[in-house]
Amino acid sequence: MRVQFWGTRGSIAKPGPTTARYGGNTSCIEVRSSQGTLVVIDCGTGGHSLAQQLISGGAKHLRGNILISHTHWDHIQGIPFFAPLFVRGNEWDIYGPKGVCESFREALAGQMQYTYFPVTLDQCEAEIRYHDLVEGAFEIEDIKVSARYLNHPAVTLGYRLQVDDAILVYACDHEPYARMLAVGDGEITGQDLQHAEFIEGADLLIHDAQYTAEEYPEKVGWGHSPVEYVVKLAQYARVKRVALTHHDPLRDDDAIERMIATVRQCASPVDIFAAFEGQVVEVAPCAQRVARRCEELQAETPLEPARAPRAVLLGVAGTTVSEALQAENICSRSFVGIDEALTAIAKDRPLLAIVEHNPPHIDGFDLGRAIRRQASDEHQLILIMVAGQEDQDAGAAAGVSDWLIKPFTAAYARAKIRTWLLRAACKSTKSIIPAKKERRSAPLGVLHNATNIESDRVKGSDRIKKQRVLQKGVDKRATVLSSDKSALLWMYGREIASFDTPTFSKKLGDIIARATSMPQTSSRSR
Ligand SMILES: [Zn+2]
Ligand SMILES: [Zn+2]
Repeated sequence: MRVQFWGTRGSIAKPGPTTARYGGNTSCIEVRSSQGTLVVIDCGTGGHSLAQQLISGGAKHLRGNILISHTHWDHIQGIPFFAPLFVRGNEWDIYGPKGVCESFREALAGQMQYTYFPVTLDQCEAEIRYHDLVEGAFEIEDIKVSARYLNHPAVTLGYRLQVDDAILVYACDHEPYARMLAVGDGEITGQDLQHAEFIEGADLLIHDAQYTAEEYPEKVGWGHSPVEYVVKLAQYARVKRVALTHHDPLRDDDAIERMIATVRQCASPVDIFAAFEGQVVEVAPCAQRVARRCEELQAETPLEPARAPRAVLLGVAGTTVSEALQAENICSRSFVGIDEALTAIAKDRPLLAIVEHNPPHIDGFDLGRAIRRQASDEHQLILIMVAGQEDQDAGAAAGVSDWLIKPFTAAYARAKIRTWLLRAACKSTKSIIPAKKERRSAPLGVLHNATNIESDRVKGSDRIKKQRVLQKGVDKRATVLSSDKSALLWMYGREIASFDTPTFSKKLGDIIARATSMPQTSSRSR
């Protein structure tokens, strides 16, 4: 696998004599498999030079893929200047995180509205397919990809790519979940442990390292990692090489070199370096690979997150969470005492319960345990604890699903809320789509999940040719739309069923049954 860095700067482009060595362009990485599959990861301002190089060869019918981590400017500003998207005959697949209110394509198109740019996304002449992703697994030709949510004030995906017996992980922009870890102390537990599992055994990890542990206390909630956290995580997860990236716009070349010299003293056995613009890294295969044992959904699972009234039960002092919910147009019901909370759980079956742990005034764990007892298993309630610091053991005993650590901004809480809603919708969709149906609704060629991601290596080119032939004969769009409709109907039915008459519920039940049992266009045309 060949990797080339086209943009390594974080947040904003910073060209000039003091950043000439490591580069001033924002995130963009080119990945090529030995079979020639092209994947561009993020398309910040560095994407312009990559695009120029791609068209300079005069290649006709250029085919490529773009994986976008999130739609903050520094990761998408190269898209309007990415020339191969404007050439008729070229073919591109663009992947990015699914939104709650809008599709990934709509989010991308936003930066190309008339007010900001004279050409719209619709005017791209290449054939472009947009893919809305949630956490899970999918394939791009010979490359197996896993996507996982990161910790950032926007819904952001990290990507793990496996091809040619080598593993590349891209995790940018990401902030440690535990504050202690961010400043270099404490154990790797909870969600940081899950992040470590995501990067485990990478031959090359490209990770956000915008700050140092010393700078971090001033940057809490900005969504970026101190370099010390990255080193600790990489050592724990047996990563071979780490490329630090998303360099702070205020860190000049000399400062980056001082930083890397310092961290190298304690990074052993990990080979760590600061990525620079133009750098090429050959990622060598690893002969002794330990298989990951985790189950993942299909990352293109069609779903519609529920945004019904009383989707959230709220027991938190302060206004930040309420502001975040309001900004997301999500209704919430606040409670005062524990009895009121338990009544609401039984009556409204909220999707999320956000409660506070603030000893000695409020024992959030007591409240959490009571809420868990009240909520039935099939309710699949997500319980969020707002606290000054994490207590993993007490949280696990109280059934806490995730934490919001104070202080946090409304932007940060919004990203968390979106992630929880998307995860809840994934879980519901997974549990209601029968296994057979699920297989049919997944786009062809991306049927594998991560259970067999490391073990079912089919000899590449034959399988890819077969997939292309199959894809030609299938109306992929119709398949996805149809299952989107079923999932939407189901979510709709679940949310309003308790408010309507039995006759209406029966009618809705019939519609859902029809929508989910209809023969698929794809199976007929096969
Ligand atoms: Zn960024
Ligand atoms: Zn960002």
